[in-house]
Amino acid sequence: MRAVRVNQLGGPEVLEMQIVPVPTPRKGQVLLKVAAVGLNFADVLNVRGEYLTRARTPFTPGMEFSGSVVALGEGVTHLQIGQLVAALGGSGAFAEYATAPAAACLPIPDVLDARAAAALPVSYYTAYFSLVTLGRVQAGEVVWIEAAAGALGTASIQLAKAMHAVVIATASTPEKLEIAKALGADHVFLSGDADLRQMMLEVAPKGVDVYLSVTGGGGFQDRLSAMNALGRVLVIGNASREAANLNPNSLMKNNVSVTGVWLTPLMSVPGAMQAATAFIYPLLISGAVKPQVGQVFKLEDAGKAFELMFSRGSTGKVIIEP
Ligand code: NDP
Repeated sequence: MRAVRVNQLGGPEVLEMQIVPVPTPRKGQVLLKVAAVGLNFADVLNVRGEYLTRARTPFTPGMEFSGSVVALGEGVTHLQIGQLVAALGGSGAFAEYATAPAAACLPIPDVLDARAAAALPVSYYTAYFSLVTLGRVQAGEVVWIEAAAGALGTASIQLAKAMHAVVIATASTPEKLEIAKALGADHVFLSGDADLRQMMLEVAPKGVDVYLSVTGGGGFQDRLSAMNALGRVLVIGNASREAANLNPNSLMKNNVSVTGVWLTPLMSVPGAMQAATAFIYPLLISGAVKPQVGQVFKLEDAGKAFELMFSRGSTGKVIIEP
């Protein structure tokens, strides 16, 4: 089968199309015919060797995808051949076939096609754990969502609005702010605006209750001055790739808490995925939330998809199809 391989870490130029054997599902795994892959910022960082865990070469990237079940590993009984599922976790999706743990395969409701299914797991489950489990967002609270037109950002806006929060969305271009506004964001601001804090305080005089932080970097400490008393800051990403600054003493004044978020270990918390599914799926099925599919690339153009995301050109979930 065709697969994109990484033999050495680096930028998009290290992605190589190669012919490799179709993998065999091990105990507890399924083999899927890949329909669509969701590209994550984490994939780009992983191939560069800059992710939370360091990748070991050679490997096939791709941690999130949709596909139909073509073979069941030993002990798998709850999935059926031919069923469309979305898989998250692991790697190897930049290929025609990939294995995934059966426990990490989400059955897909009829309302989603294969592209939308590939846009679901990482963004929506991370948004859920950030807003609901760790952020404890209440109706009427102010939620600040950064990189609001991206995959995680669009999912977060939709879930936050479903929770009746007041959403402040920031992004780097007016076009991205239009996307955030169309999804229901109440207030939209350019992230680079020098008066950002002042504009935010005008629409939310008490400050932000829950801040989904994905940019990180040297501006992190300044951004905390926008927090309300008892505010919750969720550190979800560091897209700037700069060292973030934080003076812990500054958190005392307003009883602000800062919590890290990483989807991978949260997936293993007993009952966590089931609780997330119980929250997300009724919203999907009713049409209240809809995964936002952005630009679509062919597998042989995976490098172009990486470049687009790394240069901040992407919106919604970038999809790669074999
Ligand atoms: P996006 O679709 O949001 O694309 C990345 C966005 O990050 C860009 O469009 C850009 O939006 C913003 N950004 C800010 N600074 C930079 C920069 N210097 N270079 C590139 N992009 C920048 O990607 P994802 O939805 O996949 O991920 C968004 C963030 O959330 C990432 O930091 C990612 O690592 C994190 N994440 C973390 C998870 C976890 O479990 N902790 C799970 C999922 C995502 P703009 O131009 O508007 O600033």
